[in-house]
Amino acid sequence: MLRKKFTLIAIDGGAASGKSSTARAIAKRLNYLYVDTGSHYRAVTYLMITKGINPEDPEAVVRCLKEIPFETKIMDQRALVYLNSNHPKESDLRSQKVNDQVSRFAAMSGVRKLLLTYQRNIASIARKQNFDGLIMEGRDIGSIIFPHADYKFFLIADLNTRIERRSLEGHEDSIEQRDRLDSIRHTAPLTCPQGAVKINTSRLTLDAVIEKISSIIESRNI
Ligand code: C5P
Repeated sequence: MLRKKFTLIAIDGGAASGKSSTARAIAKRLNYLYVDTGSHYRAVTYLMITKGINPEDPEAVVRCLKEIPFETKIMDQRALVYLNSNHPKESDLRSQKVNDQVSRFAAMSGVRKLLLTYQRNIASIARKQNFDGLIMEGRDIGSIIFPHADYKFFLIADLNTRIERRSLEGHEDSIEQRDRLDSIRHTAPLTCPQGAVKINTSRLTLDAVIEKISSIIESRNI
């Protein structure tokens, strides 16, 4: 029997632009593996905080990370990162401390280099596990991790909408500060990747965004 073509989808955008909810729903709909790369940077940040490693010392950060095994486990169509056999609780990953520090660790070229290899490898895991595709979301997926992705989307939303979304989720978040740091860093800054379809989600329901993206994928996949 002929196997369906494996489809690679990159979704990028700033904090609370709607990437995660959209990507997760599309993964379910199309039998893709879903990867939230923000959680990788959050897991690294949480580990560095618990180990007391200073974000002013990138060499110490990378030295520590090189000693740590990065593994992937799949749960409910989602790839979860395990560092030292541990995946931190969602409440720890989304804590105020991690929100405040994550962009500093994410700006380190050594950290990004380690995660680039780790993240690219997840495509092979998805293939081996018989998913029909991979949908990965973050800040540099269409630009750096998978520049040749089959589809690239860049989500935007106005600041008030994004702040409201976070407060509805019950999280305090330094959205503006993170977006600023993510956009001005030297390595893999937050940017709309070449060839990406840009979608403003401010006035769209989640269902409408999912429909828009799915219809583009489904129409070109025929
Ligand atoms: O997506 P989320 O808001 O959870 O991402 C947390 C942080 O991780 C971002 O603010 C950014 O600093 C970093 N990040 C990144 N590159 C990615 C995904 C996330 O630098 N691909």
